[in-house]
This record gives sequence, structure tokens and C-alpha cells, in this order.
Amino acid sequence: MSLAAYACDPAASRGRRHPEAAAPTRTEFQRDRDRIVHSTAFRRLVYKTQVFLNHEGDLFRTRLTHSLEVAQLGRSIARALRLNEDLVEAIALAHDLGHTPFGHAGQDALNDCMKDHGGFEHNLQSLRVVDELEERYPRYDGLNLCFETREGILKHCSRANAERLEAQEPGGVGRRFLDRSQPSLEAQLCNLADEIAYNAHDIDDGVRSGLISMEQLEEVALFARFRREALAEHPDLQGRRQLYEAIRRMLSAQVYDVIAATRAGLDRAAPRSADQARHSGPLVAFSAGMAQQSAALKQFLLRNLYRHPQVVETTGQAKRVVRELFAAYCADPTQMQAGFAARTDLPRAVADYIAGMTDRFAAREHERLTGQRLLP
Ligand code: MG
Repeated sequence: MSLAAYACDPAASRGRRHPEAAAPTRTEFQRDRDRIVHSTAFRRLVYKTQVFLNHEGDLFRTRLTHSLEVAQLGRSIARALRLNEDLVEAIALAHDLGHTPFGHAGQDALNDCMKDHGGFEHNLQSLRVVDELEERYPRYDGLNLCFETREGILKHCSRANAERLEAQEPGGVGRRFLDRSQPSLEAQLCNLADEIAYNAHDIDDGVRSGLISMEQLEEVALFARFRREALAEHPDLQGRRQLYEAIRRMLSAQVYDVIAATRAGLDRAAPRSADQARHSGPLVAFSAGMAQQSAALKQFLLRNLYRHPQVVETTGQAKRVVRELFAAYCADPTQMQAGFAARTDLPRAVADYIAGMTDRFAAREHERLTGQRLLP
């Protein structure tokens, strides 16, 4: 199927920061996807926490399986909307590369440590990983990805950071945060696919962990409706199969809703190019009704799962690990890998080093440097 006029066309890419000859058989976005899959940061995602710390169980989502689910949902929707599937896949697989160990707790702690040194934002860090921190190629740092992939990776950015990016790269990936335009439709789609994916898999992981129950989920209209539907069709359905069937139906309904609502929006705005789409306001969206239901689900998860006392307790330990690692490396930079120890921008080097760690490496390093074992 051919791409829509409003899709990103790899042949019309704004290109790479370091110009390269075209590949003989792959498009520029396929190439970006391949570079991401082969990166070191991508392999680390398997040992990084999504919500549940890695050691708490083998079946919970990690950043890697989360990223694969985002890519799957994104590609399904992209194909239906005739958007560029390869670009969606590249952005989805890279969108969490900058996450610290220990999920949001790790990021909050690191942001705190960096508050007098420019702060720490995981979206910006994902961009730093692909622009600067990966060491794979002879002639440049980073993966030298296309503008469109980098644009999608930088999902959010503070004004101060956008201004800094704009100064380094005029008209580049920071610009849209200053002129308030949108990223490509492919990037908008990844953003929404991320939300659909974590809302669904956090229900699954939450129930699996025993921290939330299916009975509690009855208060979430979106889930309750599909659980009822599943039971009406399969009255004997129990346990995990009942949960999966409800989640599966909920996921499908959200995907079809995004496709229909976005098609309607595209019909109204009628962008004739990817660039026109960037200046047509947000176009990849849920219908108003689904947006509300999805927000209610998110609120439920915040109240009952992310702020569950048991989650808060382990994340408290994780924050301490990050804070104490930061202090230890700042006091003695030679404890870091040589390349980081040699850098002149010490706090940022420490933040980059810690952000790159897997959960278990961070826990081991913490034990090595402090003699205390806070996490198994
Ligand atoms: Mg994500």
C-alpha cells in the first residue's frame, strides 16, 4: 500500500547530521530502525524497570517488552492510516532508550541530583543516547539518525532545553517546542501508542502482582465494559484468560477508535504533506469519549498501582541507590568507566553513566561503593 501524502517519506527526509550515502536496499527509516536494534542502549532495556523492579518477577514488562508492544500497536495503526510504518517502528523502539534504571523513581532521583546542573529529562536523554552517547561508528558519536526519527524521540522538552537545542542546531528538533507546532504524524502516533500500551500492560502486571484486583477494576468503565462483554460471550471464562480477553478487547477498541478519530481529523484538516500535518494541530488522537475513558484508566493506575505502598517502598530504596551512586561518582570519578571519568562536565558525565545502567548493574555498583545492599 502506498504512503499517504501526509506521511513521512524517507526519500524526502531532512537528513542526518552527518551526511551519508544512501543504502542499496533499505530506506533511511529502515536503516534507523536497524541501528537502534543493534545499539547497546537497546539491549540494556531488557534489564530496566517499567513499573515493577526487574528482580520482582520474570513475567512483568521491562522497558524492552514495553517498547516492542508500543512498536506493535504503532505499526498496526500506521498501516491502517497509511503512515510510515518503518519510522513508527524506529521511534517506538527508541522512545525509552534514555530511561534510568528503576523506572520513574530513578529518573526523579537523578533529576533531583542534577537540579543545579541543568536537570535530567528522560526524553532528552533518549535523544542524547542516539545523538552522542552510543559509540559504534568510526566518524561520529551516536547513531546519526534521521531528523524525523530524532524528532519523534524528543517527545517532550522544557523551554530552556529547547532553546539550548535550537542554539546548537537551528531549525532542528528543538524548534517545535518554541513555535508550538506538532511533530510528524508518525511521532504523534508513537506517543499515543505508548499510552495505550502501558495502560493495558500495567493492568496485566498489576493484577499479576496481586496489587490490584479485577474486582477493583470494575470501577474503570473502559475495562469493566470489555470484561462484561467477554463474560457474556464466554460465561465460564476465569482467571488469567478472563483478564487477557478483557484487555485484548480493550486494546482493539482503542486501536480502532484512534484509527477512526484520526481519519476524521485528517479529513477535516486535509494536510497535503508531512510538513502541513506538523502545522495542523494534534491530529493523531482518540475520540473525545475514548480520551476521557483512557484518562480515567490512567488515574486509576496512578492511585492504585503506581502509588501503591508496596511500589512506593521499593521505589524509595531505588531512589536512594541513585542518589548515593551520584554522590559516590562525583566524589571519585575514577570509579566510573574510563570514558566517563575523563569527561570535564562531571555532573553530566555522572548522570549519563547512571542513566545508562541496568537495574541490576546499578544495585551491584551501589553495593560495591557503599558496602550496603539495598536491593536484591
Ligand atoms: Mg514508554
